[in-house]
Amino acid sequence: MLTNKELAQLIFPDIKETVEDLEKRYPLRNLKENAEVTRFAPSPTGFLHTGSLFTALICHKVATQTGGVFYVRLEDTDTKRGIEGSGEQLLKQLKIFDVYPSEGYMGDHEEGNYGPYVQSKRADIYRVVIKHLLEEGKAYPCFCTPEDLENIRNQQEKDKLTPGYYGEFAKCRYLDNDERARRIKNGEPFVIRFKSSGNHLNKIMVNDLVRGEFEIAQNDQDIVIYKSDGLPTYHFAHACDDHFMRTTTVIRGEEWIPSLPIHVELFEALGWKAPRYAHLPVIMKLDEQGHKRKLSKRLDSEAAVSYFIEDGYPASALIMYLMTIANSNFEEWIFQNKFEHMEEFTFSFNKMSLDGALFDMGKLNFFAREILGKKTKEEILDLAKKYSKEYKEDLYALISSNEEYFMNIMNIEREKENPRKDYEKFGNLIELIGFFYPNIYDQIASNGLVFNEKFKASTIKEILLALKEGLSLEQDEQSWFNNMKEIGSAHNFTGDRKAYKANPEQFNGTIGDVAEILRITLTGRKNSPNLYYVMLLLGKNECDRRIDQLISKLN
Ligand code: GLU
Repeated sequence: MLTNKELAQLIFPDIKETVEDLEKRYPLRNLKENAEVTRFAPSPTGFLHTGSLFTALICHKVATQTGGVFYVRLEDTDTKRGIEGSGEQLLKQLKIFDVYPSEGYMGDHEEGNYGPYVQSKRADIYRVVIKHLLEEGKAYPCFCTPEDLENIRNQQEKDKLTPGYYGEFAKCRYLDNDERARRIKNGEPFVIRFKSSGNHLNKIMVNDLVRGEFEIAQNDQDIVIYKSDGLPTYHFAHACDDHFMRTTTVIRGEEWIPSLPIHVELFEALGWKAPRYAHLPVIMKLDEQGHKRKLSKRLDSEAAVSYFIEDGYPASALIMYLMTIANSNFEEWIFQNKFEHMEEFTFSFNKMSLDGALFDMGKLNFFAREILGKKTKEEILDLAKKYSKEYKEDLYALISSNEEYFMNIMNIEREKENPRKDYEKFGNLIELIGFFYPNIYDQIASNGLVFNEKFKASTIKEILLALKEGLSLEQDEQSWFNNMKEIGSAHNFTGDRKAYKANPEQFNGTIGDVAEILRITLTGRKNSPNLYYVMLLLGKNECDRRIDQLISKLN
Protein backbone atom coordinates (compact mmCIF):
# COMPACT_ATOMS: atom_id res chain seq x y z
CA MET A 1 0.00 0.00 0.00
CA LEU A 2 1.05 3.55 -0.78
CA THR A 3 2.72 5.33 2.15
CA ASN A 4 1.63 8.80 3.27
CA LYS A 5 4.86 10.15 1.87
CA GLU A 6 4.16 8.64 -1.55
CA LEU A 7 0.64 10.02 -1.50
CA ALA A 8 1.96 13.48 -0.63
CA GLN A 9 4.44 13.19 -3.47
CA LEU A 10 1.68 12.18 -5.87
CA ILE A 11 -0.37 15.25 -4.92
CA PHE A 12 2.48 17.77 -4.85
CA PRO A 13 5.22 16.40 -7.12
CA ASP A 14 6.71 19.84 -7.75
CA ILE A 15 7.10 20.86 -4.13
CA LYS A 16 10.72 20.28 -3.22
CA GLU A 17 11.09 22.67 -0.29
CA THR A 18 10.50 21.51 3.27
CA VAL A 19 9.10 23.15 6.36
CA GLU A 20 12.68 23.38 7.69
CA ASP A 21 13.66 25.36 4.59
CA LEU A 22 10.85 27.77 5.33
CA GLU A 23 11.96 28.09 8.95
CA LYS A 24 15.37 29.16 7.67
CA ARG A 25 13.99 31.49 5.03
CA TYR A 26 11.87 33.29 7.64
CA PRO A 27 14.08 33.39 10.73
CA LEU A 28 12.93 34.64 14.12
CA ARG A 29 12.91 38.41 14.16
CA ASN A 30 15.70 40.15 15.90
CA LEU A 31 13.68 42.43 18.15
CA LYS A 32 14.11 43.48 21.73
CA GLU A 33 12.33 41.50 24.42
CA ASN A 34 8.58 42.14 24.65
CA ALA A 35 8.48 43.85 21.25
CA GLU A 36 5.21 42.86 19.63
CA VAL A 37 4.74 41.87 16.02
CA THR A 38 1.15 42.53 15.00
CA ARG A 39 -0.67 42.43 11.74
CA PHE A 40 -3.78 43.79 10.13
CA ALA A 41 -5.08 41.16 7.76
CA PRO A 42 -7.98 42.50 5.71
CA SER A 43 -9.66 40.68 2.89
CA PRO A 44 -9.96 42.89 -0.19
CA THR A 45 -13.72 42.64 -0.24
CA GLY A 46 -14.75 46.28 -0.21
CA PHE A 47 -14.41 49.35 1.93
CA LEU A 48 -12.64 49.78 5.25
CA HIS A 49 -15.17 49.16 7.98
CA THR A 50 -14.98 51.39 11.07
CA GLY A 51 -14.55 48.21 13.14
CA SER A 52 -11.59 47.20 10.98
CA LEU A 53 -9.96 50.59 11.43
CA PHE A 54 -10.42 50.03 15.16
CA THR A 55 -8.57 46.69 14.88
CA ALA A 56 -5.82 48.21 12.77
CA LEU A 57 -5.44 51.06 15.26
CA ILE A 58 -4.91 48.65 18.17
CA CYS A 59 -2.48 46.53 16.12
CA HIS A 60 -0.52 49.66 15.21
CA LYS A 61 -0.53 50.97 18.77
CA VAL A 62 0.58 47.70 20.37
CA ALA A 63 3.46 47.33 17.90
CA THR A 64 4.67 50.92 18.09
CA GLN A 65 4.48 51.27 21.85
CA THR A 66 6.62 48.13 22.32
CA GLY A 67 9.14 48.94 19.60
CA GLY A 68 7.82 46.09 17.49
CA VAL A 69 6.49 45.74 13.97
CA PHE A 70 3.06 46.38 12.52
CA TYR A 71 2.54 44.86 9.11
CA VAL A 72 -0.37 44.40 6.71
CA ARG A 73 -1.20 41.13 5.02
CA LEU A 74 -3.79 40.91 2.31
CA GLU A 75 -5.98 37.84 2.75
CA ASP A 76 -7.31 37.28 -0.71
CA THR A 77 -7.74 33.53 -0.86
CA ASP A 78 -11.48 33.81 -1.24
CA THR A 79 -11.24 34.79 -4.88
CA LYS A 80 -15.01 34.90 -5.38
CA ARG A 81 -15.42 37.71 -2.86
CA GLY A 82 -12.43 39.82 -3.89
CA ILE A 83 -13.05 43.29 -5.30
CA GLU A 84 -10.49 44.70 -7.70
CA GLY A 85 -8.61 47.66 -6.28
CA SER A 86 -9.95 47.44 -2.76
CA GLY A 87 -6.56 46.44 -1.32
CA GLU A 88 -4.99 49.67 -2.58
CA GLN A 89 -7.96 51.61 -1.30
CA LEU A 90 -7.62 50.10 2.18
CA LEU A 91 -3.99 51.16 2.39
CA LYS A 92 -4.82 54.68 1.23
CA GLN A 93 -7.37 54.94 3.99
CA LEU A 94 -4.97 53.59 6.62
CA LYS A 95 -2.57 56.30 5.53
CA ILE A 96 -5.17 59.02 5.98
CA PHE A 97 -5.70 57.86 9.56
CA ASP A 98 -2.00 57.51 10.19
CA VAL A 99 -2.38 53.85 11.05
CA TYR A 100 0.20 52.89 8.51
CA PRO A 101 2.31 49.72 8.47
CA SER A 102 6.08 49.70 8.38
CA GLU A 103 6.10 46.36 6.60
CA GLY A 104 3.97 44.17 4.41
CA TYR A 105 1.48 44.91 1.70
CA MET A 106 1.61 48.65 1.08
CA GLY A 107 -0.97 48.94 -1.70
CA ASP A 108 1.27 49.35 -4.72
CA HIS A 109 4.32 47.48 -3.44
CA GLU A 110 5.54 45.28 -0.62
CA GLU A 111 8.14 45.90 2.04
CA GLY A 112 9.90 43.49 4.36
CA ASN A 113 11.68 40.14 4.49
CA TYR A 114 8.74 37.98 5.45
CA GLY A 115 6.76 38.21 2.26
CA PRO A 116 5.06 37.82 -0.04
CA TYR A 117 2.39 39.56 2.01
CA VAL A 118 -0.49 38.80 -0.33
CA GLN A 119 -1.85 35.33 0.33
CA SER A 120 -2.55 34.43 -3.27
CA LYS A 121 1.19 34.85 -3.92
CA ARG A 122 2.06 32.41 -1.15
CA ALA A 123 0.49 29.29 -2.67
CA ASP A 124 3.81 27.42 -2.75
CA ILE A 125 4.48 28.11 0.91
CA TYR A 126 1.11 26.65 1.85
CA ARG A 127 1.76 23.64 -0.37
CA VAL A 128 5.02 22.91 1.41
CA VAL A 129 3.23 22.84 4.75
CA ILE A 130 0.26 20.86 3.46
CA LYS A 131 2.57 18.34 1.87
CA HIS A 132 4.20 17.96 5.27
CA LEU A 133 0.83 17.40 6.96
CA LEU A 134 -0.05 14.78 4.32
CA GLU A 135 3.23 12.99 4.95
CA GLU A 136 2.47 12.91 8.63
CA GLY A 137 -1.03 11.58 8.04
CA LYS A 138 -2.54 14.74 9.55
CA ALA A 139 -4.32 15.70 6.36
CA TYR A 140 -6.01 13.81 3.55
CA PRO A 141 -7.64 14.39 0.19
CA CYS A 142 -11.43 14.53 0.21
CA PHE A 143 -13.45 13.69 -2.89
CA CYS A 144 -16.90 14.48 -1.55
CA THR A 145 -19.04 16.35 -4.02
CA PRO A 146 -21.42 19.16 -3.05
CA GLU A 147 -24.22 16.56 -3.21
CA ASP A 148 -22.36 14.22 -0.84
CA LEU A 149 -21.96 17.09 1.61
CA GLU A 150 -25.60 18.01 1.27
CA ASN A 151 -26.61 14.42 2.03
CA ILE A 152 -24.43 14.41 5.13
CA ARG A 153 -26.03 17.68 6.23
CA ASN A 154 -29.56 16.35 5.71
CA GLN A 155 -28.78 13.23 7.65
CA GLN A 156 -27.35 15.26 10.53
CA GLU A 157 -30.34 17.56 10.54
CA LYS A 158 -32.68 14.59 10.65
CA ASP A 159 -30.80 13.03 13.55
CA LYS A 160 -30.41 16.40 15.31
CA LEU A 161 -26.62 16.13 15.27
CA THR A 162 -23.97 18.84 15.02
CA PRO A 163 -23.50 19.64 11.35
CA GLY A 164 -20.17 19.30 9.64
CA TYR A 165 -17.51 16.97 8.38
CA TYR A 166 -16.26 15.07 11.40
CA GLY A 167 -15.97 11.62 12.97
CA GLU A 168 -18.05 8.99 11.20
CA PHE A 169 -19.35 11.58 8.70
CA ALA A 170 -15.86 12.35 7.48
CA LYS A 171 -16.11 9.61 4.87
CA CYS A 172 -12.91 10.31 3.00
CA ARG A 173 -10.91 10.09 6.19
CA TYR A 174 -11.39 6.32 6.03
CA LEU A 175 -10.27 5.73 2.45
CA ASP A 176 -6.95 3.96 2.11
CA ASN A 177 -4.04 5.56 0.29
CA ASP A 178 -4.31 3.23 -2.71
CA GLU A 179 -7.93 4.21 -3.21
CA ARG A 180 -6.97 7.89 -2.83
CA ALA A 181 -4.21 7.53 -5.38
CA ARG A 182 -6.52 5.74 -7.80
CA ARG A 183 -9.13 8.49 -7.64
CA ILE A 184 -6.53 11.23 -7.98
CA LYS A 185 -5.03 9.53 -11.02
CA ASN A 186 -8.56 9.20 -12.35
CA GLY A 187 -8.78 12.97 -12.33
CA GLU A 188 -11.45 13.25 -9.65
CA PRO A 189 -11.52 16.76 -8.16
CA PHE A 190 -10.57 16.94 -4.51
CA VAL A 191 -9.82 19.26 -1.62
CA ILE A 192 -7.47 18.59 1.28
CA ARG A 193 -8.83 18.36 4.78
CA PHE A 194 -7.12 18.58 8.12
CA LYS A 195 -7.59 15.39 10.16
CA SER A 196 -8.81 16.50 13.54
CA SER A 197 -8.02 14.45 16.59
CA GLY A 198 -10.40 16.41 18.80
CA ASN A 199 -13.77 15.70 20.31
CA HIS A 200 -16.34 18.45 20.74
CA LEU A 201 -17.42 16.96 24.08
CA ASN A 202 -14.01 17.87 25.48
CA LYS A 203 -13.32 21.39 26.68
CA ILE A 204 -10.05 23.20 26.25
CA MET A 205 -8.78 26.30 28.04
CA VAL A 206 -7.81 29.18 25.84
CA ASN A 207 -6.27 32.48 26.78
CA ASP A 208 -7.37 35.75 25.31
CA LEU A 209 -5.61 39.00 26.14
CA VAL A 210 -8.90 40.87 26.43
CA ARG A 211 -11.05 38.24 28.14
CA GLY A 212 -8.49 36.23 30.07
CA GLU A 213 -8.77 32.44 30.21
CA PHE A 214 -11.96 30.71 29.20
CA GLU A 215 -13.22 27.26 28.31
CA ILE A 216 -14.35 26.31 24.85
CA ALA A 217 -15.28 23.05 23.15
CA GLN A 218 -12.47 21.28 21.32
CA ASN A 219 -12.53 21.20 17.55
CA ASP A 220 -13.47 17.95 15.89
CA GLN A 221 -14.19 19.16 12.37
CA ASP A 222 -11.99 18.01 9.52
CA ILE A 223 -11.87 21.47 7.99
CA VAL A 224 -10.84 22.07 4.41
CA ILE A 225 -7.35 23.53 4.36
CA TYR A 226 -6.69 23.44 0.64
CA LYS A 227 -9.34 24.15 -1.97
CA SER A 228 -9.64 22.73 -5.44
CA ASP A 229 -8.54 26.12 -6.83
CA GLY A 230 -5.07 25.54 -5.35
CA LEU A 231 -5.46 28.08 -2.55
CA PRO A 232 -5.77 27.46 1.17
CA THR A 233 -8.68 28.48 3.38
CA TYR A 234 -8.44 31.32 5.88
CA HIS A 235 -7.91 29.10 8.93
CA PHE A 236 -4.94 27.30 7.50
CA ALA A 237 -3.41 30.31 5.75
CA HIS A 238 -3.48 32.47 8.86
CA ALA A 239 -1.71 29.79 10.90
CA CYS A 240 1.05 29.44 8.31
CA ASP A 241 1.42 33.15 7.80
CA ASP A 242 1.38 34.17 11.43
CA HIS A 243 3.98 31.51 12.10
CA PHE A 244 6.37 32.37 9.28
CA MET A 245 5.82 36.13 9.55
CA ARG A 246 6.64 35.69 13.23
CA THR A 247 3.54 37.40 14.56
CA THR A 248 3.55 37.57 18.34
CA THR A 249 -0.05 38.69 18.90
CA VAL A 250 -3.03 38.17 16.64
CA ILE A 251 -5.48 41.03 17.18
CA ARG A 252 -8.81 40.62 15.43
CA GLY A 253 -12.57 40.95 15.90
CA GLU A 254 -14.42 38.77 18.38
CA GLU A 255 -16.32 37.09 15.56
CA TRP A 256 -13.25 34.83 15.31
CA ILE A 257 -13.57 33.39 18.83
CA PRO A 258 -15.61 30.39 17.63
CA SER A 259 -12.75 29.50 15.26
CA LEU A 260 -10.17 29.55 18.02
CA PRO A 261 -10.35 25.77 18.74
CA ILE A 262 -9.54 25.08 15.08
CA HIS A 263 -6.60 27.44 15.21
CA VAL A 264 -5.27 26.03 18.46
CA GLU A 265 -5.44 22.52 17.03
CA LEU A 266 -3.77 23.53 13.78
CA PHE A 267 -0.83 25.10 15.60
CA GLU A 268 -0.49 22.02 17.78
CA ALA A 269 -0.58 19.63 14.82
CA LEU A 270 2.07 21.70 13.06
CA GLY A 271 4.25 21.69 16.15
CA TRP A 272 4.34 25.48 16.24
CA LYS A 273 3.94 27.82 19.19
CA ALA A 274 0.64 29.65 18.69
CA PRO A 275 0.68 33.45 18.85
CA ARG A 276 -1.17 35.22 21.65
CA TYR A 277 -4.70 36.16 20.71
CA ALA A 278 -6.69 39.29 21.46
CA HIS A 279 -10.30 39.37 20.26
CA LEU A 280 -11.69 42.89 20.20
CA PRO A 281 -15.29 43.72 21.06
CA VAL A 282 -17.57 44.71 18.23
CA ILE A 283 -18.63 48.34 17.86
CA MET A 284 -22.36 48.66 18.40
CA LYS A 285 -25.04 51.22 17.78
CA LEU A 286 -28.41 51.97 19.33
CA ASP A 287 -31.12 51.53 16.74
CA GLU A 288 -34.34 53.58 16.56
CA GLN A 289 -36.05 51.17 18.94
CA GLY A 290 -33.26 51.61 21.47
CA HIS A 291 -31.79 48.14 20.88
CA LYS A 292 -28.07 47.55 20.66
CA ARG A 293 -26.91 46.10 17.40
CA LYS A 294 -23.68 45.80 15.44
CA LEU A 295 -22.73 48.72 13.20
CA SER A 296 -24.03 47.53 9.89
CA LYS A 297 -22.49 48.16 6.51
CA ARG A 298 -25.93 48.15 5.00
CA LEU A 299 -27.76 50.38 7.46
CA ASP A 300 -25.23 52.79 8.96
CA SER A 301 -23.22 55.32 7.03
CA GLU A 302 -20.77 55.58 9.93
CA ALA A 303 -19.90 51.90 9.47
CA ALA A 304 -17.63 52.85 6.57
CA VAL A 305 -14.53 54.85 7.26
CA SER A 306 -15.01 56.61 3.92
CA TYR A 307 -18.02 58.39 5.39
CA PHE A 308 -15.78 60.38 7.76
CA ILE A 309 -13.29 61.13 5.03
CA GLU A 310 -15.93 62.25 2.57
CA ASP A 311 -17.67 64.39 5.18
CA GLY A 312 -14.40 66.15 5.98
CA TYR A 313 -13.79 65.12 9.57
CA PRO A 314 -10.25 65.54 10.85
CA ALA A 315 -8.85 62.00 10.70
CA SER A 316 -7.37 62.28 14.17
CA ALA A 317 -10.83 62.87 15.66
CA LEU A 318 -12.02 59.42 14.63
CA ILE A 319 -8.79 57.88 15.88
CA MET A 320 -9.08 59.69 19.19
CA TYR A 321 -12.67 58.63 19.47
CA LEU A 322 -11.84 54.99 18.71
CA MET A 323 -9.20 55.10 21.41
CA THR A 324 -11.86 56.05 23.97
CA ILE A 325 -13.66 52.86 22.95
CA ALA A 326 -10.42 50.91 23.25
CA ASN A 327 -9.36 52.00 26.73
CA SER A 328 -11.63 53.38 29.42
CA ASN A 329 -8.86 55.55 30.90
CA PHE A 330 -8.04 57.26 27.60
CA GLU A 331 -10.72 59.95 27.76
CA GLU A 332 -9.44 61.39 31.02
CA TRP A 333 -5.89 61.15 29.73
CA ILE A 334 -6.59 63.04 26.53
CA PHE A 335 -8.44 65.78 28.40
CA GLN A 336 -5.44 66.18 30.67
CA ASN A 337 -3.20 66.31 27.63
CA LYS A 338 -5.37 68.94 25.97
CA PHE A 339 -6.22 66.71 23.02
CA GLU A 340 -2.61 66.41 21.96
CA HIS A 341 0.21 63.87 21.70
CA MET A 342 -2.05 60.88 21.54
CA GLU A 343 0.92 58.72 20.60
CA GLU A 344 2.19 59.06 24.17
CA PHE A 345 -0.79 57.23 25.62
CA THR A 346 -0.09 53.63 26.65
CA PHE A 347 -2.75 51.20 25.53
CA SER A 348 -3.39 48.03 27.49
CA PHE A 349 -5.62 45.09 26.70
CA ASN A 350 -6.84 44.72 30.24
CA LYS A 351 -8.42 48.17 30.21
CA MET A 352 -10.63 47.18 27.34
CA SER A 353 -14.30 46.81 28.07
CA LEU A 354 -15.93 43.59 26.99
CA ASP A 355 -19.33 44.85 25.98
CA GLY A 356 -19.28 46.30 22.54
CA ALA A 357 -19.01 50.05 22.82
CA LEU A 358 -21.79 52.18 21.40
CA PHE A 359 -20.75 54.39 18.55
CA ASP A 360 -21.40 57.93 19.74
CA MET A 361 -21.43 60.56 17.01
CA GLY A 362 -21.84 63.30 19.61
CA LYS A 363 -18.55 62.41 21.23
CA LEU A 364 -16.81 62.14 17.90
CA ASN A 365 -18.08 65.62 17.00
CA PHE A 366 -16.83 66.93 20.32
CA PHE A 367 -13.30 65.62 19.63
CA ALA A 368 -13.42 66.96 16.12
CA ARG A 369 -14.34 70.45 17.34
CA GLU A 370 -11.53 70.37 19.88
CA ILE A 371 -9.06 69.36 17.20
CA LEU A 372 -10.17 71.90 14.60
CA GLY A 373 -10.42 74.57 17.33
CA LYS A 374 -6.68 74.25 17.92
CA LYS A 375 -5.65 74.80 14.33
CA THR A 376 -4.41 78.13 13.01
CA LYS A 377 -6.30 79.80 10.21
CA GLU A 378 -3.53 78.79 7.82
CA GLU A 379 -3.84 75.15 8.85
CA ILE A 380 -7.60 75.34 8.46
CA LEU A 381 -7.18 76.79 4.98
CA ASP A 382 -4.82 74.02 4.08
CA LEU A 383 -7.04 71.24 5.40
CA ALA A 384 -10.20 72.71 3.89
CA LYS A 385 -8.55 73.09 0.50
CA LYS A 386 -7.21 69.54 0.49
CA TYR A 387 -10.57 68.17 1.47
CA SER A 388 -12.73 70.26 -0.82
CA LYS A 389 -10.47 69.76 -3.82
CA GLU A 390 -11.20 66.07 -3.65
CA TYR A 391 -14.73 65.92 -2.26
CA LYS A 392 -16.56 69.23 -2.50
CA GLU A 393 -16.11 71.30 -5.59
CA ASP A 394 -18.45 74.11 -4.56
CA LEU A 395 -16.55 74.64 -1.31
CA TYR A 396 -13.28 74.57 -3.19
CA ALA A 397 -14.52 77.24 -5.57
CA LEU A 398 -15.68 79.38 -2.67
CA ILE A 399 -12.35 79.14 -0.84
CA SER A 400 -10.35 79.76 -3.99
CA SER A 401 -12.36 82.87 -4.81
CA ASN A 402 -10.59 84.63 -1.92
CA GLU A 403 -8.40 82.63 0.43
CA GLU A 404 -7.73 85.61 2.68
CA TYR A 405 -11.44 86.18 3.17
CA PHE A 406 -11.99 82.48 3.93
CA MET A 407 -9.21 82.56 6.53
CA ASN A 408 -10.73 85.64 8.12
CA ILE A 409 -14.09 83.92 8.38
CA MET A 410 -12.57 80.85 9.95
CA ASN A 411 -10.46 83.01 12.22
CA ILE A 412 -13.37 84.62 14.04
CA GLU A 413 -12.63 84.14 17.74
CA ARG A 414 -9.94 81.59 16.94
CA GLU A 415 -6.72 83.30 18.03
CA LYS A 416 -7.47 83.47 21.71
CA GLU A 417 -6.96 81.58 24.94
CA ASN A 418 -10.24 79.72 24.64
CA PRO A 419 -11.01 79.60 20.94
CA ARG A 420 -14.55 78.96 19.83
CA LYS A 421 -15.14 75.47 18.57
CA ASP A 422 -17.71 75.97 15.87
CA TYR A 423 -16.54 73.44 13.33
CA GLU A 424 -16.24 69.67 13.47
CA LYS A 425 -15.85 68.94 9.78
CA PHE A 426 -15.69 70.59 6.40
CA GLY A 427 -18.59 68.72 4.82
CA ASN A 428 -21.19 71.14 6.20
CA LEU A 429 -19.10 74.28 5.98
CA ILE A 430 -21.09 75.92 3.21
CA GLU A 431 -24.19 75.55 5.32
CA LEU A 432 -22.46 77.32 8.20
CA ILE A 433 -20.48 80.06 6.47
CA GLY A 434 -22.08 80.38 3.03
CA PHE A 435 -23.88 83.57 4.09
CA PHE A 436 -20.56 85.41 4.17
CA TYR A 437 -20.65 85.25 0.38
CA PRO A 438 -23.20 87.65 -1.16
CA ASN A 439 -24.42 85.27 -3.89
CA ILE A 440 -25.08 82.48 -1.40
CA TYR A 441 -26.68 84.90 1.04
CA ASP A 442 -29.01 86.14 -1.71
CA GLN A 443 -30.13 82.59 -2.41
CA ILE A 444 -30.85 82.04 1.27
CA ALA A 445 -32.70 85.34 1.52
CA SER A 446 -34.74 84.65 -1.59
CA ASN A 447 -36.18 81.62 0.16
CA GLY A 448 -37.44 83.96 2.88
CA LEU A 449 -35.90 84.83 6.21
CA VAL A 450 -37.76 83.47 9.21
CA PHE A 451 -38.20 85.65 12.30
CA ASN A 452 -39.86 84.92 15.58
CA GLU A 453 -43.61 85.27 15.05
CA LYS A 454 -43.92 87.64 17.96
CA PHE A 455 -42.43 90.47 15.90
CA LYS A 456 -44.61 92.47 13.60
CA ALA A 457 -43.10 93.34 10.24
CA SER A 458 -43.31 97.01 11.16
CA THR A 459 -41.28 96.45 14.33
CA ILE A 460 -38.60 94.53 12.43
CA LYS A 461 -38.43 97.28 9.87
CA GLU A 462 -38.26 100.03 12.48
CA ILE A 463 -35.40 98.49 14.46
CA LEU A 464 -33.42 97.53 11.35
CA LEU A 465 -33.63 101.04 9.98
CA ALA A 466 -32.48 102.40 13.31
CA LEU A 467 -29.55 99.97 13.40
CA LYS A 468 -28.60 100.78 9.85
CA GLU A 469 -28.60 104.40 10.74
CA GLY A 470 -27.03 104.37 14.17
CA LEU A 471 -24.92 101.23 14.66
CA SER A 472 -21.31 102.00 13.91
CA LEU A 473 -18.72 99.32 13.15
CA GLU A 474 -15.89 101.66 13.86
CA GLN A 475 -15.60 100.84 17.52
CA ASP A 476 -14.58 97.89 19.68
CA GLU A 477 -16.92 95.00 20.43
CA GLN A 478 -18.02 96.26 23.83
CA SER A 479 -18.85 99.76 22.56
CA TRP A 480 -20.62 98.26 19.56
CA PHE A 481 -22.74 96.20 21.90
CA ASN A 482 -23.56 99.20 24.10
CA ASN A 483 -24.41 101.12 20.96
CA MET A 484 -26.84 98.37 19.91
CA LYS A 485 -28.34 98.36 23.40
CA GLU A 486 -28.99 102.08 23.30
CA ILE A 487 -30.64 101.87 19.90
CA GLY A 488 -32.68 98.96 21.22
CA SER A 489 -33.97 100.79 24.26
CA ALA A 490 -34.80 103.87 22.19
CA HIS A 491 -37.13 101.57 20.27
CA ASN A 492 -38.57 99.90 23.33
CA PHE A 493 -36.36 96.77 23.37
CA THR A 494 -35.35 96.52 26.99
CA GLY A 495 -32.04 95.51 28.50
CA ASP A 496 -33.85 94.43 31.63
CA ARG A 497 -34.86 90.81 31.15
CA LYS A 498 -36.70 90.58 34.44
CA ALA A 499 -38.87 93.58 33.58
CA TYR A 500 -39.57 92.02 30.21
CA LYS A 501 -40.53 88.69 31.77
CA ALA A 502 -42.90 90.40 34.17
CA ASN A 503 -44.67 92.51 31.51
CA PRO A 504 -43.76 91.37 28.00
CA GLU A 505 -46.66 93.26 26.42
CA GLN A 506 -45.10 96.57 27.49
CA PHE A 507 -42.06 96.06 25.27
CA ASN A 508 -41.16 95.34 21.68
CA GLY A 509 -38.71 92.79 23.03
CA THR A 510 -35.29 92.51 24.68
CA ILE A 511 -31.84 93.44 23.57
CA GLY A 512 -31.37 89.74 22.76
CA ASP A 513 -34.25 90.10 20.30
CA VAL A 514 -32.53 93.04 18.62
CA ALA A 515 -29.41 90.92 18.11
CA GLU A 516 -31.52 88.05 16.81
CA ILE A 517 -33.35 90.20 14.28
CA LEU A 518 -30.08 91.66 13.08
CA ARG A 519 -28.42 88.25 12.93
CA ILE A 520 -31.21 86.64 10.94
CA THR A 521 -31.29 89.60 8.59
CA LEU A 522 -27.56 89.49 7.93
CA THR A 523 -26.91 85.75 7.99
CA GLY A 524 -30.22 84.01 7.42
CA ARG A 525 -29.43 81.96 10.51
CA LYS A 526 -30.35 81.93 14.17
CA ASN A 527 -26.82 80.85 15.07
CA SER A 528 -23.70 82.30 13.61
CA PRO A 529 -20.23 83.22 14.71
CA ASN A 530 -19.96 86.38 16.83
CA LEU A 531 -22.18 88.97 15.13
CA TYR A 532 -19.79 91.85 15.66
CA TYR A 533 -17.06 90.05 13.71
CA VAL A 534 -19.53 88.87 11.11
CA MET A 535 -20.48 92.50 10.49
CA LEU A 536 -16.87 93.63 10.40
CA LEU A 537 -16.11 91.04 7.75
CA LEU A 538 -19.19 91.80 5.69
CA GLY A 539 -18.50 95.54 5.90
CA LYS A 540 -20.95 98.37 6.36
CA ASN A 541 -22.06 98.49 2.73
CA GLU A 542 -22.93 94.81 2.49
CA CYS A 543 -24.74 94.92 5.85
CA ASP A 544 -26.79 97.89 4.66
CA ARG A 545 -27.54 96.16 1.36
CA ARG A 546 -28.89 93.11 3.20
CA ILE A 547 -31.01 95.27 5.51
CA ASP A 548 -32.42 97.27 2.60
CA GLN A 549 -33.16 94.13 0.63
CA LEU A 550 -35.15 92.69 3.52
CA ILE A 551 -37.01 95.93 4.21
CA SER A 552 -38.04 96.20 0.58
CA LYS A 553 -39.68 92.81 0.98
CA LEU A 554 -41.41 93.76 4.21
CA ASN A 555 -43.37 96.50 2.45
N1 GLU B 1 -9.05 38.12 6.75
C1 GLU B 1 -9.70 38.08 8.02
C2 GLU B 1 -10.80 39.14 8.01
O1 GLU B 1 -10.84 39.93 7.12
C3 GLU B 1 -8.69 38.40 9.09
C4 GLU B 1 -8.95 37.79 10.40
C5 GLU B 1 -7.69 37.87 11.24
O2 GLU B 1 -7.24 38.99 11.52
O3 GLU B 1 -7.11 36.83 11.55
O4 GLU B 1 -11.64 39.18 8.87
